Amino acid sequence: MIFGVDIGGTTIKIGLVDNLKIIDKYEIPTKKDSLIKDICESLRNYMKEHNIEKIEGIGFGVPGNVINNYIYNLPNIGLKNIDLEKEVYKYFPNVVVKAQNDANAAVLGETLYHREYQNACMITLGTGVGCGIVLDGKVLEGRHGVAGEIGHMPIAEEYNFACTCGLKGCLETVASATGVVRLADFHRSSFRTALPYKFSAKDVFDLAKKNDQLCLEVIDKVSYYLAKCIAILAITVDVDVYYIGGGVSKAGSILIEGIKKHYAKLSHYAVKNVKIEAASLLNDAGMLGAAGLI
Ligand SMILES: [Zn+2]
Repeated sequence: MIFGVDIGGTTIKIGLVDNLKIIDKYEIPTKKDSLIKDICESLRNYMKEHNIEKIEGIGFGVPGNVINNYIYNLPNIGLKNIDLEKEVYKYFPNVVVKAQNDANAAVLGETLYHREYQNACMITLGTGVGCGIVLDGKVLEGRHGVAGEIGHMPIAEEYNFACTCGLKGCLETVASATGVVRLADFHRSSFRTALPYKFSAKDVFDLAKKNDQLCLEVIDKVSYYLAKCIAILAITVDVDVYYIGGGVSKAGSILIEGIKKHYAKLSHYAVKNVKIEAASLLNDAGMLGAAGLI
């Protein structure tokens, strides 16, 4: 049995995984000052309560960049430079420890779940835009640990909004939850709308489903930029399937259908038939993928 640990900004999801299936799961709060200690103590307690004597390993999905199990930066939690193996060995001296960026863990989780595809990308739309790439069943890390950081692909130059990374016109500035809000504000004066002046990305999607002109325009733009990004990915990594996950993706078919419509026009003829679909594991992909690292 393996523990899959998905560390988030506010909660840590922990799954007990056997034969690549989550057989039990629970959550604990994320505390900056005792992050690894809390996780390890909770795992030890869980094992004691459930009479589990031995586990094969602990896999981690972390919201930041990690190379060779060394966590360099967790910007949303405010932690840097954690030697994960060293910290975990204090509690579990002989266990195998593996870690990956959370987007990478999530896409690995989806490929473990959908066994038929061993080549996949998962685009996560949340506060930012993340992406994990799995090729031949293995996560693509890259030389600097940023393979698949498509949120900073400079493809929205028409708007040229400033990005948190210091560049301008990144995909994330128009396709994240904040990007959706930014686009709606930008186009507000040109379209009729029932959108209040204080609103969220979810409001934009909800009103688009009611044919609100401004919101439909915004979703069309978001879909266009995501399709453009997938068209670029398709002739770069050429995978079987592109999963769309994360909070913004809860908008459902209106977004997926919009992406497909634009992708049909933007994509190279050899990759027209790729699958673009909603991620199916919702909150469990990160845990399963983290366990799959072992
Ligand atoms: Zn950027």
